[in-house]
Amino acid sequence: NDLEQLYVHESVENVIPKEAFVEAFSDFPIPVELVGDGEEYDERDGVVTYVPGEEFLDAGWVHCARAGYDAFDTEAYAEAGVPLTNSSGIHGATVGEVAIGCMLSLARMLHVYRDNQNETHWYTPDYERPFTVENERLCVLGLGTIGEGIATRADGLGMEVVGVRRSDEPVPGVSEIYGPDDLHEAISDARFVAITLPHTPETDGLLSTPEFEAMREDSYLVNVARGPIVDEDALVSAIEDGEIAGAALDVFETEPLPDQSPLWDMEEVLVMPHKGSATNRYHLDIADLVKENVEHYWAGEELRNRVA
Ligand code: NDP
Repeated sequence: NDLEQLYVHESVENVIPKEAFVEAFSDFPIPVELVGDGEEYDERDGVVTYVPGEEFLDAGWVHCARAGYDAFDTEAYAEAGVPLTNSSGIHGATVGEVAIGCMLSLARMLHVYRDNQNETHWYTPDYERPFTVENERLCVLGLGTIGEGIATRADGLGMEVVGVRRSDEPVPGVSEIYGPDDLHEAISDARFVAITLPHTPETDGLLSTPEFEAMREDSYLVNVARGPIVDEDALVSAIEDGEIAGAALDVFETEPLPDQSPLWDMEEVLVMPHKGSATNRYHLDIADLVKENVEHYWAGEELRNRVA
């Protein structure tokens, strides 16, 4: 249970200001040091990093500074007996608010008004087009931290919220929970389908042509999880063919979204730069999580968010 030093790999810079992050540990009882590649580690070291690295497998514990840890070889960690933890559990408000904002924009047409503002155009929509999210049905795929963050907020807006997860553990704000086998039933009546699943072999390409056909023609897909969970070509075709009405996407198969992607030019598609979790206090949220786990490590307790 010896952990004597914490190293912060400079790749954390992808999501947080690295100096401010180290500064957040100024009152911490062990040294916290910023490092680059080529460092050597041993079991008394903890490492906080954004990118994976072979050398981290020699450390005592590795913390991934993001929720999605699909880039890390979890089997290698299990084999080496090095616990790997991720930064889940802190994105309920940030990503939750983005998803809610997207649904409100799509329903109340804020994105279309801004497009027209850019053209100095006083725009009048068709009578049939605007609607309220109130009383509309939302299906949340994946009911973890982010799923719950969306569900409780949507419930507060008077939406009818259902969801899909493998376990049937109840979730605040969610009136009905479906299993993965009932995915089509769960999404078929929803005005919004929000994806908050991890990207795993089971969820890769989960939403494709059959799912878009099962969805309502006036429904919108909101993906704030990971791009490859959605078959992007199938999504483009589904929107072009009117199988669904549109989408709000924070994540893509290829990021940044390539210039030639048809998604850029679709009026009923919101393209966001994978910044759903962005907040000016993200470094403090991650630091709190790391500090909590150091305490668990010292006490020989189960680490929070252990993924390998
Ligand atoms: P959690 O681990 O808290 O939640 C994941 C949920 O998905 C759980 O409720 C789990 O429930 C469910 N789940 C897992 N596998 C399946 C499956 N095969 N079928 C149905 N349900 C499944 O993660 P978070 O909510 O914190 O984050 C979710 C994902 O969002 C992350 O993995 C990450 O990729 C992405 N993300 C995106 C961000 C952004 O900036 N846009 C920021 C942060 C995260 P059960 O075990 O019952 O199945």
